[in-house]
Amino acid sequence: MRPSVRLPLPDEDALALADGDPAGLAPLLEEARSARDRAWGRRVTFSPKVFLPVTNLCRDRCGYCSFRRSPGDAGAWTMTPDEIDTWLDRGAAEGCAEALLCLGDRPESVFPSYRRTLATWGHESTVSYLEDAGRRALARGLLPHTNAGILTRDEMARLARVNVSLGLMLETTSDRLSEPGMPHHRAPDKRAASRLRMIDEAGQLKIPFTTGILIGIGETRRERVQALLAIRALHRAHGHIQEVIVQSFRAHPDTRMREAPEPDDDEVAHAIAVARLVLPDEITVQAPPNLNAGSTLRLLAAGINDFGGISPVTPDYINPRHPWPHLEALARTCAGEGYELAPRVAVHEAFIERPGFLAPELLGPTLAARARLARARSPGELGAARGALAQTADPASPSLEAP
Ligand code: SF4
Repeated sequence: MRPSVRLPLPDEDALALADGDPAGLAPLLEEARSARDRAWGRRVTFSPKVFLPVTNLCRDRCGYCSFRRSPGDAGAWTMTPDEIDTWLDRGAAEGCAEALLCLGDRPESVFPSYRRTLATWGHESTVSYLEDAGRRALARGLLPHTNAGILTRDEMARLARVNVSLGLMLETTSDRLSEPGMPHHRAPDKRAASRLRMIDEAGQLKIPFTTGILIGIGETRRERVQALLAIRALHRAHGHIQEVIVQSFRAHPDTRMREAPEPDDDEVAHAIAVARLVLPDEITVQAPPNLNAGSTLRLLAAGINDFGGISPVTPDYINPRHPWPHLEALARTCAGEGYELAPRVAVHEAFIERPGFLAPELLGPTLAARARLARARSPGELGAARGALAQTADPASPSLEAP
């Protein structure tokens, strides 16, 4: 990288980086760190959240996933309305501002027993149930953000009435990863076309949107850059991408990819730095600290400006073997590098009062949650009642690690 580099990187320069920068990793990180500092200053954010794994039933079978279940599997779990209420209450009591609703992809299309379960609760579809859960969250002052896999345009419009933002990891644009033997072969919802279609339609609907790439599942660096360029193109069309997550593959026992090599710190840093230099300044670049334990300084050096959602009450159900960091410790690490760790709400600042984006009825709850977070004297105050953050699945909840 050269000091005169033009940002965001033009397509050809971005692809050239993927093919190998003769200057090496250090100048790339330096360029990305400078870009982050210019755009975001010395503030790094996180979203205090309660994580609701609404159902782990899923019609796909990704090779790396330890979350999904079929009905009857050990650990199969659809949260009851009472369980949702209980965890929302705990999240609100611990100072959370976000209710993350995360689930498998369209289980009602393949599991009749799940449809019957929804019907006993008065819902004809998962989206109906999610809408209800969103209302319950809002009633407690929590701002819903839902990641429900592939949704139709109408479903997104419906959920946008009770969600401050929606999410879908693009993961990759490489359909090579859907070929036999590859991680997405048994996951038709991971085809790039349907994911790009949904992100595009979210933009048409002006929904603040979080997406990201998954690194280390067999993609090449060039394919990573192509995914980032696709996200950038959609953002240029609609201006709706608030955050891009650079998520590292982590191997889980009981998955097909349990012995696959994980990306090392240099590879993660390279991906983050390229994301920072490819994406427009206004898009947050995030990397989850629990998937990069012990590498917080490296994440900062590579150009992140956000750690994503961190929960004082619930584990990371998608990666239950990777506990959240303690917020006070994370804040100290950031301070040591001259950065302030600050809480934020789920919808990013630029979208809160931007005409046409946030549903008008969500503005009041969003401003109230933002004001509540601003009153916290330190990040550690969020969830301080428990003394430490949730490190493992709640004993009352089914273990999602067991097959
Ligand atoms: S990663 Fe998502 S879509 Fe793939 S199997 Fe797991 S829950 Fe389903």
